[in-house]
Amino acid sequence: MPHTMRFDIVTLFPEMFSGYLGQSLLNKAIENGLVEVHVHDLRLWAKNKHNTVDDRPYGGGPGMVIKVDVVVECVEAVQALADKPGLVVLTTPQGNRLDQRVVERLSSSENRFIVLCGRYEGFDQRVVDILQPYELSIGDFILNGGEVAAMVVVDTLVRMVPGVLGHEKSNQDDSFSSGNRLLEYAQYTRPPEYRGYEVPDVLLSGDHGRIAAWRKSESIRRTEQRRSDLLNGPPENEN
Ligand code: SAM
Repeated sequence: MPHTMRFDIVTLFPEMFSGYLGQSLLNKAIENGLVEVHVHDLRLWAKNKHNTVDDRPYGGGPGMVIKVDVVVECVEAVQALADKPGLVVLTTPQGNRLDQRVVERLSSSENRFIVLCGRYEGFDQRVVDILQPYELSIGDFILNGGEVAAMVVVDTLVRMVPGVLGHEKSNQDDSFSSGNRLLEYAQYTRPPEYRGYEVPDVLLSGDHGRIAAWRKSESIRRTEQRRSDLLNGPPENEN
């Protein structure tokens, strides 16, 4: 497991990241030197005075396509900013679907990620042919651009860096994590009763053995009810 992680995000909308990066757990991880995030404006690599980064698709059709030369030269320059080139992650609804297993696999094999955010109709195919990125989708739906997907990538991966969560155990109990493969049990905090809804007695008992057993059986019950597919284990070689 890497002890620090570096992200370079390539986007046409760098300002979108400032609010996200300045908040909460991620901000703290950056301040503590566990995570570095650099946001790069793709438009700076445009080649003409109009700062053009996209063009009409060959063969016709609606929308615009992001130009290959602009992206490849931007990525090469960004790669050169650190000792190792890192893994180029290209966001696309056609990519490998992100899930917690992918998060665990990526975080254990890499500690530098260059995340490409598309817009319009996406990238010229030769971006993929030349850079051979890891193509990643966050789900079977279409976003307006890759920025939200890039935030999802950063958000999920930083949780895997030791020290980011503050208490090491926490992500092992999370739903979908490899140590678990179950949905997490229901959580409660004070007050013990609200509008007639009570916290289960066992959680107030102070008996750690009983609490652990209750949580385990709740996890199994929830998983059976909501996501019985998880109980059968992941298909071999998926993603
Ligand atoms: N025309 C493309 C297609 O059908 O595959 C979709 C382009 S989409 C409107 C624009 C950009 O949003 C993509 O280049 C990608 O960066 C991002 N994007 C959209 N949906 C995504 C998803 N499910 N996962 C990751 N990125 C997505």
